[in-house]
Amino acid sequence: MGLAAAGIAFFPALAVGSFLNVVAARVPLRRSIASPGSACMGCGTPIKWYDNVPVLSWLLLRGRCRSCGAGISWRYPAVELATAVLVGACFWKFGLTWEAAVASFFCAVLVVLSAIDVERRIVPNRIVLPAAAVVLVGQTLVHPSVEWLAAGLGGSLFLFLAALAYPRGMGMGDVKLALLLGFAVGRTVPIAIFAGTLFALVPSAVLFARHGVAARKMAIPFAPFLALGGLLALFAGRPLLHAYLHLL
Ligand SMILES: [Zn+2]
Repeated sequence: MGLAAAGIAFFPALAVGSFLNVVAARVPLRRSIASPGSACMGCGTPIKWYDNVPVLSWLLLRGRCRSCGAGISWRYPAVELATAVLVGACFWKFGLTWEAAVASFFCAVLVVLSAIDVERRIVPNRIVLPAAAVVLVGQTLVHPSVEWLAAGLGGSLFLFLAALAYPRGMGMGDVKLALLLGFAVGRTVPIAIFAGTLFALVPSAVLFARHGVAARKMAIPFAPFLALGGLLALFAGRPLLHAYLHLL
């Protein structure tokens, strides 16, 4: 059942990933996501439908524009594939349910926010705040409880204090992202935040090993790591929290 639902969700989710690429490219620039259609960033040639098939077109074109040969970032197929895999995983885990729908929406938002943060080092309010509201309403309707609201406020308060104490490490965008994470994963939000911080330590350590003290000035986008933490909490948070509480 779950696996069949995952298989059915995968292909439409690839198309959603394609749309997320448009959102990631245009929303930070305050451009319309409805029109004009996609065009090459290099030569401006409109992209034909057959060159706009998720993942496949990028592979067939070997990551180059058909008209001018300008490179097309690997981030485009990566966003499409990540969206499809995550949405498939949501339907696999939660079956054909509203829970899966809310979880899929949450995953799609994490993908687009990560793509934007990697490219521009920002977490746009225009995406994270409305998305957090949608997830809060969705979770509260599916599982009526104050858990979602409380976890979001708690998680963002924690990151807000961390940002005050260590302003170079994270920004207010990450605080708002924690709001979204808490609304989505509820009581397992500490797992999302601590795992995200641990994941972010890996590239920090690599940079420090390579560049020494100069690495301090190299900003690492934090949102993709928080997003990874959020995914861990979404898919494995309850058993992890249970195991942790057992250890105490
Ligand atoms: Zn071109």
